[in-house]
Amino acid sequence: MSATDFVTAVPSDGRGPRSSGPPPGSVRPAPPVTNGRLASALLALARAEEPGSRPASEDRAAATALRELDEDLHGRRVALRNLPNVSPRAADAIGSFLSSGSDDSIDDHLASILDHHDPDDERKRDYLTVADVSRILASGEGPSTSDLRGDVHLHTDRSDGKMTLAELHRVLQARGDAYAFLTDHARDCAVAGGLFAGDFEAERREIDRLNARTERGFTMFLGAESNIAEDGTLDVTPKRVPCLDAVIASVHTNLRDPRDQTPRLMRALEQPGVAVLGHPRGRLYEMRSGIRADWPRVFARARELGIAIEINGCPERLDLNPRLARQAAESGCLFSLSSDAHARRHLDFLPFALAVARLAGIPAGRIVNAWPKDRFAAWLEERRGG
Ligand SMILES: [Zn+2]
Ligand SMILES: [Zn+2]
Repeated sequence: MSATDFVTAVPSDGRGPRSSGPPPGSVRPAPPVTNGRLASALLALARAEEPGSRPASEDRAAATALRELDEDLHGRRVALRNLPNVSPRAADAIGSFLSSGSDDSIDDHLASILDHHDPDDERKRDYLTVADVSRILASGEGPSTSDLRGDVHLHTDRSDGKMTLAELHRVLQARGDAYAFLTDHARDCAVAGGLFAGDFEAERREIDRLNARTERGFTMFLGAESNIAEDGTLDVTPKRVPCLDAVIASVHTNLRDPRDQTPRLMRALEQPGVAVLGHPRGRLYEMRSGIRADWPRVFARARELGIAIEINGCPERLDLNPRLARQAAESGCLFSLSSDAHARRHLDFLPFALAVARLAGIPAGRIVNAWPKDRFAAWLEERRGG
């Protein structure tokens, strides 16, 4: 048995992580070594061993497992090799990083192994693990799961999701949600086989049928995730497809362009029928940082128009991040907290968005899907009218 088979409790010195953890205050501080930092370092090590390629699937699985553990490893006595999806090689690396003592010393330790700093570091910081979310929601104040009345960014198998519309409707209703906003992609979106106008009309007919049969007053509203083209135009709006209540407008292309994309977003916001600016940066864990824009300008215009800024709870996106979410909060914006679920298990992503909202100091009253159904419906209607 090697020294890293077990990691024994290291007393916490109470220091938070260098950059990605919650600000001091009401939220309990992160442990000195976070699961997020361990996952990130593991990926860096794997990539360095196989230059030019994506880390092997077992390393990726180990990093994902770390991010999905509901408790931080630091300070616990655990058999690393018993963790899900952690190979002996990954367990050795995790043990060695944990014994480094802090997120900062992992940086130094990793740099000494790699002989350089991790060039992808920035694209892995500033995300939350399941353990972070549990810690943030367990302490302090702010909106909580019970404040949310429904999920407002959802996909079915009619675009690129896995669930049928009937299944999604049934699951959300059974969960006790008051409402939902269905937002399949439209046909022009490059990322997914989306819907034509006639498909949205069919979706509307089925939603009306399902809503009419609900027993607990659950209502599904019909929207779309409209794609923001590079010139800021949208592929679907209620003006073009009148059966839609409103749309989420999101970027899916040109996400690595280093140039400022403020005009693209500003033009999108001006289109009638936009209720939400979806995953505003288009960032993705380890892959890309997302677009650049003059965010205070974008947020100010969204506030004037009554458009909500999305906090997308998908852990690979977590978009906006807490820092920009705080900036949007200070601009007076409304927010929508969503899972962007493409499969049933993704419906559990809402707590990630809630955790960001707490870190950003967003009160429940500014979250549109914490509003009662009538108020949410009136806001959608107002947005639809543009
Ligand atoms: Zn999207
Ligand atoms: Zn989506």
